Amino acid sequence: MILGCIADDLTGATDLALMLTREGLRTVQSTGLPPDDLDVADVDAVVVALKSRTIPAKDAVSQSLAAARALQRLGAQRLFFKYCSTFDSTDAGNIGPVADALLDLTGGGVTIACPAFPRAGRTIYAGYLFVNGVPLNESPMKDHPLTPMHDANLMRVLQRQTKRSVGLIGFDVVERGAAAVRDALAGGAIHFIVDAIADAHLRVIGAATAHLPLITGGSGVAMGLPAAYRDAGLLAQLTPPPERLAAPAGRAAILAGSCSAATRGQVQAAIAAGLPHLRIDPLEIASGTQTAQHVLQWIARQPQDKPFLVYSSDDPDAVRQVQQRLGRAQAGTIVEDLLGRVAAALPAQGFTRLIVAGGETSGAVMQALDAGVLSIGPEIDPGVPWTLARPRVHAGSAMALALKSGNFGAPDFFLKAWDRLA
Ligand code: ADP
Repeated sequence: MILGCIADDLTGATDLALMLTREGLRTVQSTGLPPDDLDVADVDAVVVALKSRTIPAKDAVSQSLAAARALQRLGAQRLFFKYCSTFDSTDAGNIGPVADALLDLTGGGVTIACPAFPRAGRTIYAGYLFVNGVPLNESPMKDHPLTPMHDANLMRVLQRQTKRSVGLIGFDVVERGAAAVRDALAGGAIHFIVDAIADAHLRVIGAATAHLPLITGGSGVAMGLPAAYRDAGLLAQLTPPPERLAAPAGRAAILAGSCSAATRGQVQAAIAAGLPHLRIDPLEIASGTQTAQHVLQWIARQPQDKPFLVYSSDDPDAVRQVQQRLGRAQAGTIVEDLLGRVAAALPAQGFTRLIVAGGETSGAVMQALDAGVLSIGPEIDPGVPWTLARPRVHAGSAMALALKSGNFGAPDFFLKAWDRLA
């Protein structure tokens, strides 16, 4: 194992794990701290997903340090601190404080701060971050409820979060190549914002920083690292991203708790294609007329040889009405709770393949299955891989899980995803 990554949220962790897998590292993702006995014999990178983006800085620091130490115990030779490509943070942190603490842990030195991901519309020029061509402070991020970004100058933003000096490695240097960037790292600052306006720049930055004990940035800057590690002799070879995931034989199910537009389209497409389906109604759950037991009884009656769909997805008006009756939080919790209970019962009934739609819903299902560690498999649609989990609720059998953020995936996602399983 070479690279230990600490991500400040769950979907960011998956994003990074996918990037590393695509670029040739065999990657495992852990929700929370990885166990010390995690088998990393065939693993090049471990990504730890924290939920530390907006918690108090001192808590983010202590959680990140605990993750970093766990990764070092597993053998990590390099650390990567992953945050959002829009540099989501406030003047109180947490990017600066966490980066400083990780620098201390890895023995000082310098690091980079590079959230650029040109392919996803995040570019940095002269230290200014642009989102789809618009300065960060004019982008929708200016109105973010938790981390409103009012300054596009990342040197200023980061300098408000750290006592250490923040410098810039500008576009002209990056254009000159990896050796020029490496020289610039000796320029006197501790944290360097690095310009990048095309993916090729990220590969230059990867090659220039592969020797650093700590790198901080978005998933984009990880693009150049795997090849750079191989070129530096840290890694014997790159492993091509898997085309398929070998999942144990067993039944397949889809649980959808997302009401996002993409998921609603996928639900309609699955129903139109003739998949057996059961709708969950939050009001019926609240009144006790629909329970996990009822859902499991319905599942027991379904054909064994094709997937079925259990969904609560509804359109915005219906969701608003339900939220007015039950309260927003309560409406969410009872659906997540029911889908979690259903998921927890599936392994014992021979299910080995599960698609879950919705970020919060996925979190609830992961918790119910107690599936802490996921091996990253093939990408089904941008941002959504199949993963292999070993749910601790049913020791022994592995389970293929596709955890889909609500708005991800093509309309036929629920139909085609299975083709990627062997
Ligand atoms: P997404 O990734 O699309 O945001 P999430 O799972 O994160 O999906 O969030 C959807 C939230 O909506 C969950 O808390 C879920 O329990 C809740 N929910 C699901 N169906 C309904 C519904 N019909 N009415 C109200 N809330 C719902």
